[in-house]
Amino acid sequence: MKVSILGAGPAGSTAAYYLAARGIDVELIDRVAFPRDKACAGGLFNPLSYYSEFPFIKELKGKNINNVHLTCGERTASYTSELPVLQTFLRKDFDYFLLKNAIKQGAKFYIGKQPEGNIIVNATGARRIQDYPKTGICMEYDYPVEKDFDTAYIHYLFKGIRGYCWIFPKKGYVNIGIGAHLPQRDIRDIYYSYIDYLEERDLISIREKCYRSKIIPLAPIKRFFKDNVLITGDAAGFVRPIGEGIFFAMMSGKLAAQTIIDKKGVSWYELRCKEKFGRYLKPMLRGNNMALLNKIMQKAIKISSRDKVFAKMLVENFFRFGEYDRALRLRFFRNLLK
Ligand SMILES: Cc1cc2nc3c(=O)[nH]c(=O)nc-3n(C[C@H](O)[C@H](O)[C@H](O)COP(=O)(O)OP(=O)(O)OC[C@H]3O[C@@H](n4cnc5c(N)ncnc54)[C@H](O)[C@@H]3O)c2cc1C
Repeated sequence: MKVSILGAGPAGSTAAYYLAARGIDVELIDRVAFPRDKACAGGLFNPLSYYSEFPFIKELKGKNINNVHLTCGERTASYTSELPVLQTFLRKDFDYFLLKNAIKQGAKFYIGKQPEGNIIVNATGARRIQDYPKTGICMEYDYPVEKDFDTAYIHYLFKGIRGYCWIFPKKGYVNIGIGAHLPQRDIRDIYYSYIDYLEERDLISIREKCYRSKIIPLAPIKRFFKDNVLITGDAAGFVRPIGEGIFFAMMSGKLAAQTIIDKKGVSWYELRCKEKFGRYLKPMLRGNNMALLNKIMQKAIKISSRDKVFAKMLVENFFRFGEYDRALRLRFFRNLLK
């Protein structure tokens, strides 16, 4: 048996790692050389969940973030978690580490080669907007900083976007970005005005505004396989509606490898994906009524500033740390009635 994996991002390299570790002949093919850049904030949400699924990640030391600052409109709230909610990397370094890890196990890496395997893992990342039921657009950049930041900032619905802006501190850098559901007009102007907003508040000083951007799937495709092809990561649309996709890319890569190693049918792969992480891929706030969403988020931030338990739930839910969907809603409504 020979397996060809197309795409050496987190999904492809993770699948290659587990397959090669079991002695399977695996070729990992990307269209570009590594290390390569990828539009991404480079945040591992809930790093502990990565450690339990992918212990080899511990070798790569990122920056742990425990402090979170939430804003919506004029309202703000801060929360400090005991455990890190986020660990950050430059994506270039993170992906290169995963690729080298797979090669160390015996995977063979090629650039732009025709696949020869009798089983294919499609890990080619996000495709066209029309391939997914829902998509968004994200824009970000890693700006070098002299003094490290320790707080992640989430700014919900900035300038009326259906999404949020963020600051994710990294070692020696700060990642500033914006993500919004499509359709979204003037995203670059809004991104730049977010940087102006941060500069006016003396939060950051940028020499030159830059961006990398990419569409992001925000809901899975219908079927996660086609004949002898298993579809993983962004290619399958495994991204949480808030834009988190690295964990699901790696999980689906691992499950694809397991499916092949254990000679399970392709539908087993689909079932396991749904069972293992399907619940995270569902939106928490539905609807497109921006005025209502804005009201809800402003209220949520107001409640967070006086109710620390609610703040903890809100932050940990965002970073896929707690499982509070229902409890969060209940506490929200209880607070409204007070
Ligand atoms: C701006 C932005 C910010 C984000 N921030 C975060 C974040 O902080 N945390 C988080 O968890 N997620 C984040 N995401 C989502 C995350 O980047 C993706 O979910 C993740 O990269 C998916 O991994 P993947 O391996 O499926 O695809 P990718 O990382 O896109 O890798 C796909 C690989 O396939 C290669 N390829 C493409 N076509 C072919 C082909 N035909 N043949 C061979 N190779 C091919 C590409 O060169 C690439 O190397 C962000 C996304 C964006 C756009």
